[in-house]
Amino acid sequence: MDFKPKYLINLVLPLFVLLIATLVYIGYSDYKTIRDSAYSQARANISVAQEYLNQHYTAANNQLYLLSEILQDEEDIPTFLTAAQYVVDHQNKFQEVGLLIDSTYYGTNQLKLEEIADKVRRRPWYDKAQQSGVTFLSPFYRSNSTKKWCVALTRTLEIPGKEDVRIVIELDASAMSQDLSGLKTMKDGYVFAVESESGHVVIHPDPSRLGTASVSLTPTILDEILKGEQAGEIPSYAYQDQYKFSVYETNQRFGWVLLSGTRNQEITANALKLGVVGGTLLALLFFILLVGYLHSRIHQLGGRLLDALEFEDLHRQLSKLLSDTIGCSRVYLFVMNEKEGILEEPHHQLRAEVPTDLFCRLSGCQQLGRDCQPEQDGIVSQIASSAPCIRLPLVNTARSGHFPSNQLVGILYICKPGLAYRFFVKMIVNYTLNALNQLLLTQHIRSEDQMTGLKNKNYLRKQMEQRLAETQDHYYLAMIDIDDFKSINDTYGHLFGDKVILMIAALMKRSFRANSVLCRYGGEEFAVLMSASDCEVARERLEAFRTSVEGQKIRVADKSCSITVSIGFALLEEGMESTISQADKALYRVKSQGKNQVFYAEHQSTESSSGMCGKTHSVNRAKLKHKQPFSEIRQSKTLTRIDD
Ligand code: GH3
Ligand code: MG
Ligand code: MG
Repeated sequence: MDFKPKYLINLVLPLFVLLIATLVYIGYSDYKTIRDSAYSQARANISVAQEYLNQHYTAANNQLYLLSEILQDEEDIPTFLTAAQYVVDHQNKFQEVGLLIDSTYYGTNQLKLEEIADKVRRRPWYDKAQQSGVTFLSPFYRSNSTKKWCVALTRTLEIPGKEDVRIVIELDASAMSQDLSGLKTMKDGYVFAVESESGHVVIHPDPSRLGTASVSLTPTILDEILKGEQAGEIPSYAYQDQYKFSVYETNQRFGWVLLSGTRNQEITANALKLGVVGGTLLALLFFILLVGYLHSRIHQLGGRLLDALEFEDLHRQLSKLLSDTIGCSRVYLFVMNEKEGILEEPHHQLRAEVPTDLFCRLSGCQQLGRDCQPEQDGIVSQIASSAPCIRLPLVNTARSGHFPSNQLVGILYICKPGLAYRFFVKMIVNYTLNALNQLLLTQHIRSEDQMTGLKNKNYLRKQMEQRLAETQDHYYLAMIDIDDFKSINDTYGHLFGDKVILMIAALMKRSFRANSVLCRYGGEEFAVLMSASDCEVARERLEAFRTSVEGQKIRVADKSCSITVSIGFALLEEGMESTISQADKALYRVKSQGKNQVFYAEHQSTESSSGMCGKTHSVNRAKLKHKQPFSEIRQSKTLTRIDD
């Protein structure tokens, strides 16, 4: 089966949609998996923390029991304090053990406070209603002696002769927090606890936060937790300008709410890693589509270049192509003028020398010209002295059909290019070169007389317009007419007449300078547009031509004949039409005054019969506006001579 590119193009959109849908699905399921694992990690951490707190409560309770046994058995305070000191020294979670006997308080580290019954009764660990044999767990408070945050377990004892006997063990909150700080949820999450009653932080990896009001667990959230289930989830709550999730469980014994969670961003960031991979794939796909689109757009607009019949059209289409595809703002298409050896830019009406380096390396000049610098190329310094500019020589290689190999046809300058990738630029160069070749060929055909190879009337008119607009040099237009041509046709036949026309064309090519425009104006009439320093110089050249025609013998079978031409010429000045009309009138004058002569038309409204050149012509064009008469240059023998 023949697989065409369009089948592939038709598949691109469905594939694109499928890819996005797959990426969204994978991204979402990945997010869910990460989220679920974060929640179960947080839940596991809470369980460990609960277990940890319960174990410490039990351990402290056991110590209380043992110490109370020692006191009851011995009734010896020093022995009790020695045992208590041992407990504190060997377990860092127990920061102080104390013994209250009526109004005296004995503490570890040789603390003894007497007559403090009133003060002691205001301490958080003192519960008036506490019964003997029952352990009391205090609220969270800062110890007076150690200045550390703690909770205390207290036990009352009944000793004969004493009214109020209590043993106290203080549990160090920062030491417990330190132990629990290893319980991480993902990378940044941690376990913390808040006292239900006060809303103060009681467990936190940052010791400075202990005893302060919770930042994230506001009284409202705390209230909701306490009203609801013993355990649950808070999916999203504000924390330092970010959002967190936590799982929580209340600890009935301590009266705390234990929480474990992390920032929601951590979950999304992990899921986004896949998104980045997907995004890269999408970008790649987008790039491929872009290249494909550019490619087709260049083909589409490039094809239109070939329709251009004038340089104006070609420039307009080219500007559109370049701004649509590689985003350039200005284009200059210079065309090589072989005759003068210069470059011409018809749209901006610029003329320039060919950059010398281009000719030196012409064989390889397709590779030349990227990012051209003004100092390397005089043209660049004129058209884009500061902006970036690409120079692209348009060269007909040996492969380009009938053109000579490596012939420079023009140069394309692209100013301020955007997406100037070599591949696209190469395509644009190929299209421009083809269009330029076609345009030059068309113009060549349209401007030439097929029979003689001279230029035609259209071309002459364009040249006259151009010279009138552009140059200050003196140009002269001569109208040349073969004398008595009808009788030549009648006598020798039309084929012979054609031969005469070809002979005149050949003589014209030989007689006038290369930069003159030689034209067959129509039938047996010719025209020459030439530059000359003054009228006299022009007249001399025309006279030389007339003489050479006169001297030419044309043979037909055993007969030969001579041909003569009449010439009227005028200075190209005020306008094209008036110049043609003046030259015509001068020609008419020659015809009426015997033919085979050269007459100059100085000014139509001041005709005279002299036909001589006025002196003012060689001075300047402005002065030529003075009205001067026809002047006769030379009167010679006329007519076509037919020798038998
Ligand atoms: P005059 O000296 O006043 O110019 O007279 P003429 O006979 O040259 O001018 P006229 O306008 O009377 O005749 C011109 C003739 O040239 C008429 C036409 O048949 C002939 N002619 C025009 N074009 C061609 C051509 O291409 N080949 C030939 N053989 N004859 C042509
Ligand atoms: Mg004629
Ligand atoms: Mg004639």
